[in-house]
Amino acid sequence: MSRTFIVAIDGPAGAGKSTVAKKLAKRLGFALVDTGAIYRCVALEASRRGVPLDDDARLGELVAGIQISFAAVGGESRVYLGGNDVTAAIRAPEVSMGASKVSARPVVRQGLLGLQRRLALAAEQGAVLEGRDIGTVVFPDAEAKFFLDASPEVRARRRHAELGEKGVEASFEEVLADQNRRDRDDSSRELAPLRAADDAIRIDSSEASIEEVLLRLEAEVRSRMARRG
Ligand code: C5P
Repeated sequence: MSRTFIVAIDGPAGAGKSTVAKKLAKRLGFALVDTGAIYRCVALEASRRGVPLDDDARLGELVAGIQISFAAVGGESRVYLGGNDVTAAIRAPEVSMGASKVSARPVVRQGLLGLQRRLALAAEQGAVLEGRDIGTVVFPDAEAKFFLDASPEVRARRRHAELGEKGVEASFEEVLADQNRRDRDDSSRELAPLRAADDAIRIDSSEASIEEVLLRLEAEVRSRMARRG
């Protein structure tokens, strides 16, 4: 039997990755691995344990023992850290900043590679992974790679609305400033900076609806699955 079919969706925050990845996984019957949520769990756990975000020795230990899992509960995807549901807690703005900081530490990125690969390959049929370096580092041989982007304003508007729905209070200006800072950090870090893989299909979602983007991805994945047999 051939390997789990891997779909990599990379791109900056607010490009529509999460929504598209979730819906795509559901339509295809694939597992969903939100790798941003994994970095967020590391940041949350570090803050709970009082581990400074630049203490590589302690971060290394923390990552080696971290227990993260995903589950779909009543159609909603939930994230568990050490058995506790942290789906809402990891969306707090300070956890976003923390995630961006820990994700620049080589010890963290390296330590999370195995976990990301295991979570995906455990899926029987296929897995959709969303993140920043899935197509370049985690699964450079993914069966389908997409790079989703949108203008900074469109992305910040989406993020702002998303946070509002989750009851997280933040002004549009704060969301945009926070996003710009994270974009800068994510693109300029030496290790696994945010960039599209050479063989990724690039999609700009500024003008397109989520449904249009989703249909394009679904059609591409289905045709590749058919080709693979
Ligand atoms: O996608 P999300 O906003 O949840 O990601 C949180 C943070 O984790 C991002 O700011 C990014 O720095 C980091 N990240 C990463 N590599 C990934 C996924 C997320 O560096 N594959």
